[in-house]
Amino acid sequence: MGILKAGGAYVPLDPSYPQERLSYMLADSGVEVLLTQQSLLKSLPSHTARVVCLDTDWGAIEQHTLENFDVGVCADNLAYVIYTSGSIGRPKGAMNTHQGIRNRLLWMQDAYQLTSSDSVLQKTPFSFDVSVWEFFWPLLTGVRIVIAKPEGHKDSTYLVNLISTQQITTIHFVPSMLQVFLLEPNSGNCSCLKRVICSGEVLPFELTERFFDHLECELHNLYGPTEAAIDVTSWQCQLQENHQLVPIGRPIANIQVYILDKHLQVVPIGVPGELYIGGDGLARGYLNRPELTCEKFIPNPFSDDKSERLYKTGDLARYGSDGNIVFLGRIDYQVKIRGFRIELEEIEAVLAQHPNVRQTIVTVLEEHSKDKRLVAYVVPKEEQVFTTSELRRFLQERLPQYMMPAAFVTLSAMPITSNGKVDRRALPAPNTVSLEKEEVFVAPRNAIEEVLVEIWKEILKLDKISIYDNFFNIGGHSLVATQLISRLRQGFQLEIPLKALFERPTIAELSECITQYQIEQADDAEIIAALKELEELSDEEIKELFASEV
Ligand code: AMP
Repeated sequence: MGILKAGGAYVPLDPSYPQERLSYMLADSGVEVLLTQQSLLKSLPSHTARVVCLDTDWGAIEQHTLENFDVGVCADNLAYVIYTSGSIGRPKGAMNTHQGIRNRLLWMQDAYQLTSSDSVLQKTPFSFDVSVWEFFWPLLTGVRIVIAKPEGHKDSTYLVNLISTQQITTIHFVPSMLQVFLLEPNSGNCSCLKRVICSGEVLPFELTERFFDHLECELHNLYGPTEAAIDVTSWQCQLQENHQLVPIGRPIANIQVYILDKHLQVVPIGVPGELYIGGDGLARGYLNRPELTCEKFIPNPFSDDKSERLYKTGDLARYGSDGNIVFLGRIDYQVKIRGFRIELEEIEAVLAQHPNVRQTIVTVLEEHSKDKRLVAYVVPKEEQVFTTSELRRFLQERLPQYMMPAAFVTLSAMPITSNGKVDRRALPAPNTVSLEKEEVFVAPRNAIEEVLVEIWKEILKLDKISIYDNFFNIGGHSLVATQLISRLRQGFQLEIPLKALFERPTIAELSECITQYQIEQADDAEIIAALKELEELSDEEIKELFASEV
């Protein structure tokens, strides 16, 4: 808010990203002023920006005038630059203008008409563009905004409680998270919700059915890329829908959508083509990437105005006979995993920098009720051996957690098609049992660990789990983590925060954490009963008990 008021454009930097990525983003964007908090200073890479700590510098900030500046910002000026995955191994910054975001926000208010009785939940991390409307739509309309606690967006129990206690009427979910949210036992009680906005990835038809079984509120499917001010088409899902593929609808105000073949000719209704976007929402381009900007933002062949452009999305779509657009998939190797946009080539490019890697292909494995996982296939350089942990560490220093492959498969050579290309379809499915092969297998040592192993095996769909396996390295991710937390609640009658799993991601550590919580959350009567029970045991029995570490 302060940055925009001062006439600047903002570049969100997620402090949980690896140093190398932050360092690249700081250098690429050339930011002159960095707003942060004292506690984060030590984790920042070296940079040349002037630092303002919003906590410790507040005394000095307060001395400044409260008057509005006359900064003279115009529609063409930048409002924000958001980095998304880039295919050459580095993220790319999409430069969005005031015109684009203003158009998008005014359309949203026109379409959904927030009033003073509404409350909007802000829960999307600010490095993703959905957060832009979550922040500025309520501020623009004077409606109440409720900001979720950090990491709260991953915790559906917390969200259900927050929605009811704060009487939230308007909320966003990526479809994968909506799926998890609806599994939450009390989600159907969120009767204060008036509208749920979905975007970011395909909204499955079955999910819309489940939604209407649970909630009596509007469900909207919005579509758009970061390069065109958040969303460019919208569709309101219907209770009695006859579309098996939920449409992405029609263009929003002042936006044009074209579905074209490779000669830039409009395809007939029903025929798939690439989706191109024109109009007020278009970003200025990619920061410091003029060639990529020219490649993706092309002159609009349907306009006489030479300055008009179309953004080439890489999305495949078709028009339905009713004029609504249906999203069909991608024409390249960009994927969405739990709403995160990932260029598989970016992971490949980073892996290829490892000195012992000759060749690598990263794919998405979709199994077990559409749970998507990244799999990296690696051919080592001659005579080189590396462990999965080594590759994982290498990637962890360079890529955000959501881009981390769940499995690594070492091959002596890539399978090749008759025309010499890598035959992706012939790549072997990873043996889920051997995801972390080099780790020594350690069986559960006590009753708590035994229960944990059973729960992990079931939710991660694995046959064998060592108590030292890291949950997030063997296929666990934030959405499965919320399932685990609710299983722990059922299994141990304990409220374990999601944070605990991130801090103690192995069964060995989690079991210690459970014991600790059991003690903390036990009431006096339970402790007295346990002590009484101990008193009745013989010395021999007590020794045995301690030996078993129960
Ligand atoms: P992002 O820049 O992270 O918003 O990602 C944009 C991409 O996400 C689009 O180009 C689509 O591939 C995908 N996407 C966004 N919204 C939808 C939707 N409603 N249905 C299907 N795919 C979507």
